[in-house]
Amino acid sequence: MQNFNAPKGTQDLIRDEARGFEHIISVARLVSSLYGFDPLKTPIFENASLFERSVGDATDIVQKEMYIFKDKGNRTLALRPEGTASIVRSVITNKLYATNDLPLRFYYDGTMYRYERPQLGRYREFRQFGVESIGVTSIYHDLEVILLAIHILQALGFEQIETKINSLGDRTARERYKEALKEYYKPHLNAVCADCRVRYEKNPLRMLDCKVPHDALLAQKAPHISDYLTKQDEDDLLFVNEALNSLGIPTNVDTTLVRGLDYYSGVIFEFSYLPPSKKDYGAIGGGGRYDKLVSELGGPDLVGVGFAFGIERIYHILNEEKKLTEAVFPDDVFIITKGEDAKNDGFSLLTSLRTHQVRTVMAFEDKSFKSLFKIAESRGAKYALIIGEEEVKNEYVTFRDLTTFSQEKVAYSKILGHILNLIHKHDHHECSCEDCHNDKDKEE
Ligand code: AMP
Repeated sequence: MQNFNAPKGTQDLIRDEARGFEHIISVARLVSSLYGFDPLKTPIFENASLFERSVGDATDIVQKEMYIFKDKGNRTLALRPEGTASIVRSVITNKLYATNDLPLRFYYDGTMYRYERPQLGRYREFRQFGVESIGVTSIYHDLEVILLAIHILQALGFEQIETKINSLGDRTARERYKEALKEYYKPHLNAVCADCRVRYEKNPLRMLDCKVPHDALLAQKAPHISDYLTKQDEDDLLFVNEALNSLGIPTNVDTTLVRGLDYYSGVIFEFSYLPPSKKDYGAIGGGGRYDKLVSELGGPDLVGVGFAFGIERIYHILNEEKKLTEAVFPDDVFIITKGEDAKNDGFSLLTSLRTHQVRTVMAFEDKSFKSLFKIAESRGAKYALIIGEEEVKNEYVTFRDLTTFSQEKVAYSKILGHILNLIHKHDHHECSCEDCHNDKDKEE
């Protein structure tokens, strides 16, 4: 029999892991909506030329990592390697800039595809959450986007975040910088790798993040963009840096930061987690300003700013740091019954609890109490409700707290209110359920 495995570099996300990912994305969506961002969903594949044009044909992503294929209509398509190009393309295709006030604020999440060497924190299919603010003029938009990213990380429970920032300068600054890099690399062209020789022609900035040891060493001594910035670029970088610091957010101005996509200009940034163990988890996200991307893709002359987080990396850190236990919301209640009458009572309790938004599961199979308790435990249930023949006859439920293992008898008519009170999901006075109604009548 043929063995089917998930393709190399992809992974199945099962139960707690999938819940953890959903939790991260829902927190990111919630915080982004507080900042006035709306969702935008784009196709998973686009015309390959979109990424060649936007991400840049000298980047590793376009040179080596894109999943490109021809469809049956002979169109050259690519699975998206990142989200910004598609959002910008959608803004242009749908002329959103013409019918909406600027800036357009969008967030997105979904799978991205890069043919990379799989390793911890690096996959071929991975998930990103990102935002784009398009049509911006003020540097406050850059600040707002950075603050949003940090707000999301804080809401997820990150305490120590390193925020690296730099400026790639405007077009003129970058052109002057590219010339300086060419000058610097010229005498070394015979010694650098074949890829770098191509990069030298297409975009020498890309030579700075070459991983080949010899070239990486050379990059360390290369000129810095900071020497080529315009006064405006310097002021913008200073403004963002000081504003973040004055809000209590430490920054690290790193003049070697360039990022791996070609469309960036102006202020760029990258976030990493600084664990007490000093372990290096790699960057968890980054972004920056792009001044010409919209116009290069055929839209009006609008500037944008955005960032993207890698969900796998965020999950990995939060999981290792045990910050996801609440988020994986295990079953609150597990109902165990013995006998047909008990099953009926249990089933109506199951329905009421679910109606009151309590996550509840009931065992329908006739198994021993012992094995059912084991299942309840493995599902992470907080409470077990046991209904056997005794309970049915005397109209009560045995209520067991699975954390403390304390056990008590609760009248069948009271059990719903009892649980709802315990899990604080319930405002007794607002509720119209029969149980609360009776209690309220008594109080009055
Ligand atoms: P980028 O789009 O390259 O700026 O990447 C933004 C973030 O996505 C990175 O900081 C990583 O957290 C994440 N990321 C990028 N590539 C991968 C990958 N191959 N596997 C997992 N996460 C990735």
